[in-house]
Amino acid sequence: MSNPINDLIRKKGWCVADGATGSNFFGRGLEAGYPPELWCVERPEEVLWLHGEFLKAGADLILTNSFGANAPRLKLHKSQDRVQEINKAAAELAREAVRRFADSSGHEGIIAGSMGPTGELFAPMGDLSYEQAVSCFSEQADALAEGGVDVLWIETMSAKEEVAAAAEAAKTTGLPVAATLTFDTARRSMMGVTPTEYAAFAREIGLDLMGSNCGIGPAELMDSTVELMSAEAGLPIIAKGNCGIPQYIDGEIHFHGSPELMAEYALYARDAGATVIGGCCGTTPEHLAAMVDALNSTPPRPLDSKSMSGALGPAWPDLPASGAPSGGRRGRRRAA
Ligand SMILES: [Zn+2]
Repeated sequence: MSNPINDLIRKKGWCVADGATGSNFFGRGLEAGYPPELWCVERPEEVLWLHGEFLKAGADLILTNSFGANAPRLKLHKSQDRVQEINKAAAELAREAVRRFADSSGHEGIIAGSMGPTGELFAPMGDLSYEQAVSCFSEQADALAEGGVDVLWIETMSAKEEVAAAAEAAKTTGLPVAATLTFDTARRSMMGVTPTEYAAFAREIGLDLMGSNCGIGPAELMDSTVELMSAEAGLPIIAKGNCGIPQYIDGEIHFHGSPELMAEYALYARDAGATVIGGCCGTTPEHLAAMVDALNSTPPRPLDSKSMSGALGPAWPDLPASGAPSGGRRGRRRAA
């Protein structure tokens, strides 16, 4: 099976993925609590704009605006019967943005179909059965594939069962499948999975790429990336970290990382061995351009953990160095 991400990694050494979706739409009129995925049909010009800005900033890969476009999540907005329509539109918009950019630059971007969590707990803790989850994810994956994505991209997951269900659904399309976990809870995912456990699991279920995204800040993201690497699962590793540590101001989450911080983070991610490097919440096209510049102008270096900690700040400063869980700070669950 052809895998355009691996082809690019072989050629260039790394692949730059894009930045945030939701948080970049806030400045364009998206209201807090409104699902950005609906903009694929309601404000398609805004979705095209954001894809275009990331491609111009140097992204090799863009994610479709379909993160929450599964039936259980859309049900919160009474749109559960629009899964097919929204995901197909998301993929087609990304395809159109890539076509336009290729026409002007000759650079052909890769399209990854974003699939986020259902937001529901699996049985016996919750109501969702494994089979129901596979069926929900299949509906989304099939529509993304029909709309023309190159890869399916499962992200911001916290439970192994949900990754397995989404991957099972995604694989039936025949496309390559990537999946990233969010390690936001004292070095583990919210459901208790460590990066080491996840690396073994990703290999076991036959993912094509794996890694981590979102969570706390770039230092914590790098902490999980280093642990994923040391597990030696033999899969390409994705690092898609937030733009700084989330800060709660007046009940809202804000990200204040500078382009310089994100450029440092991108270099350390590559030094650590990540081959797909991008930004998560708060990462604007401006941040991404700084990351691309840094990667293009600085040769890969051996990872220097001490200087990384100096540049990005200490990872998990409230936890003991052993990584024993102690109910550390929690990041947001929704990639934006
Ligand atoms: Zn995020």
